Order: sequence, then C-alpha cells, then structure tokens
Amino acid sequence: MARIVKKFGGTSVADIDHIKAVAERVKREVDAGHQVTVVLSAMAGVTDQMVDHTRRVGGLVDDREYDVVVSAGEQVTSGLLAMTLQDMGVPSRSWLGWQIPIRTDGVHGKARIESIDTGELEKSLARGEVPVVAGFQGLGPGNRITTLGRGGTDTTAVALAAALNAERCDIHTDVDGVYTADPRIVAKARKLDRITYEEMLEMASLGAKVLQARAVELAMKRGVRLQVLSSHGDAPGTMIVHEEEVMEKQQVSSITYKRDEAKITLTRVADRPGVAASIFGPLADDSINVDMIVQNVSADGKTTDLTFTVTRADLQRAVASLENRRDDLGYADLLSDSNVVKVSVVGVGMRSHAGVAQRMFKALADEGINIQVISTSEIKVSVLIDEASTERAITALHDAYGLDAE
Ligand code: ASP
Ligand code: MG
Repeated sequence: MARIVKKFGGTSVADIDHIKAVAERVKREVDAGHQVTVVLSAMAGVTDQMVDHTRRVGGLVDDREYDVVVSAGEQVTSGLLAMTLQDMGVPSRSWLGWQIPIRTDGVHGKARIESIDTGELEKSLARGEVPVVAGFQGLGPGNRITTLGRGGTDTTAVALAAALNAERCDIHTDVDGVYTADPRIVAKARKLDRITYEEMLEMASLGAKVLQARAVELAMKRGVRLQVLSSHGDAPGTMIVHEEEVMEKQQVSSITYKRDEAKITLTRVADRPGVAASIFGPLADDSINVDMIVQNVSADGKTTDLTFTVTRADLQRAVASLENRRDDLGYADLLSDSNVVKVSVVGVGMRSHAGVAQRMFKALADEGINIQVISTSEIKVSVLIDEASTERAITALHDAYGLDAE
C-alpha cells in the first residue's frame, strides 16, 4: 500500500464527464489498496473568468477580496469530485484550504504556505476516506482566504505530499510527461523517463508550462518524488528526481523556447559607473523584469550599446519609461523588437562537459541563424534569435545534441 497525492489540473476537471473520469481513475488506485489524497484545480478557464470579474469591478480592488473571488473555482470542483466518488461507493469528502487548515503568509495573490495541520486529514485517511482538497487556497493572517499564485494547485499538492509523508506526488495534466522538446514542433521529441528537479525548475522558468516553478522548488527542498503524467490511461509519465537517481546524464536533456520576449537596444550609452543602475533601477521600480542583458565594450572609451530583453507585455511600459528619461540617460537611439524568441538548452550534464555552448552556436550557424543575445547559467545556455527561425532552431538543436528518437 502506498500513500499518494494526486493532483488534477483544470483541463482534467473541465466538466462533469471529465470529473467522472478522474473519479474512476482515483477509484482504481483505491481498489489497488493505495491511500489516495486528491488535490484539484478549478475547471479550465474558470479562474481566468473570476480574475476578469474582479477587473471589471474597476477601481482599486482589495486584494483580500480578490482572493475570495478567484479561489472560488476550486470549491466547486472539489465538492463535485467528492460527490462523484461517493456515488461510486468510495467514501470521500472535500476540504477547503481553511478547513485543513493550510496556513500561509499574508501576501494575497501570491501567498506562501507556512504550515499545514494534517491532523484532520490523517483521521479522514484512517477512516478509509479519500480527501479531496481544493488547491490554490490558503488561510492567511486574520483568517483571511489567500491564494498561492496562478498555477498554485501544483504547490498545494507538493506541500501536502510533504506534510503527509506521501511516497509520491502525481501531477496529472493534459500532456503525458516532460519531453525533450515541444512535440508540436519537433516530431522526433521523446518523453523523458526521468529529469532532475533543477532541470525542471530551469525549464519552468524558461517558459515550460507543465509545472509551477514554485512547486518544483518546494519538491526539491522537501525531497518529494514528483511524477508528471496524463489524466487518461495508466501509462507512467516523467519522474522528477534528485540528480543521483538519474543514471545516464546527457549533456543536454531538453530544448525549450519562450516566445514571450522583446528586445530593447539603447545605442551610444555613456560608458561610466552607475549607468546600468540608472537604466535598470527605474524599470525594476515599475516591476518590469529584465531578463537577458548584453553590453558591448566601447570602441571609443566613451559610449557603448546596451541590449536587454523584457516580456512582450512589458515592452510598451519599458519603452515609455526609457523615453521619459532620455535626457538623463543620454542614449542616441532606442530600438525595440518583439519578433524574437529565446531558445535554451538545459541539462545538468553540462556542468561536467566542455563544449556544450559551442555545439549550440555551431548548430545555429549551420542553419544560418543569427544569435542576438546569449545568456548562460550552470545548467543552461540561452540565445535570443529571430522569431521566424524558432522551429528550425529547435529542430536543429534537438538533432545536434542527439535527442532525436529513432
Ligand atoms: N485555478 C488556479 C489557476 O488557474 C490554480 C491552478 O489551477 O493551479 O491558476
Ligand atoms: Mg497548471
């Protein structure tokens, strides 16, 4: 008998038929003798709709009431699944975040879990029930409802798995695992049996939408064994594990891409101390995240060009902010381009292999693809390229690192 936490995302509980399929899946595990706790998202699209409602109220929305509204979708799905399970003869009850309780800090809209009291859940499990927990919700200071950030049900599931000492946390979703590249782009992409926490974390922050980055971070810290798998069928998915558990370390395990990038270049910026701070400080104050940055050496010792990226959604605001400060910053031209994409190769194996970046540059050069900006970390190399070359770049890189399926 294993203790398992199973999370189902919004597309897996999108309507009553899907909820019935989830209930059947849970029943199979229960019949096999496992002790199952379920964590659910809201029906696909419902949270977006709630967010939209709050926007239409207009004015300054009280963020405590925002959380009351946007957390509502999870109450509906957890109640419906508990009912469905009961109907199939599986004893079950729903649990809202505050009923457990899952205590969080008071950062509404993006709260962090501080503690989970598992006393009542343990009793429920001992009675042979299947607890169905509403994801995404917490209880903050002053008994106010909080939410854990978009995609936060992943974090609820991981935190519960840790608190309940579960053997595994299964994340059921609309893909059947983590792939070497987006299978919609690379026909030869393969599903990975295993991947490390660090790689998954890097992939999540590079735009892969499979898991909330915060959930991966928590799983890594607490040593929760995570599996990403399909909501349908019983095929195993991808296990996310510590590095020691991955036998064959490839230099690169996956190729990811992020279209949500825009490039800004400031030409002939003064080359003196404090300039970067005066450019990026005000952007940070406006909550505009700057991602990749390159600065050239100055040929004349006086001025240099500076290129960096922001998300496309922030481009207009970033440009406006820089134009307003044009006189102070003293650049010659401001150029912007949102037809760019960030392509990254990720792999823990690159720590111990030389030439990983070189292989990337060569593969892109062979395709005649120009690299605009480069950034690296210990386990990834990212390049910014022209968006029109996305498919060609990813396909070429997938081949260059030997990731193609036979
Ligand atoms: N329903 C929430 C959202 O859409 C939480 C989740 O699904 O993980 O962000
Ligand atoms: Mg999700």
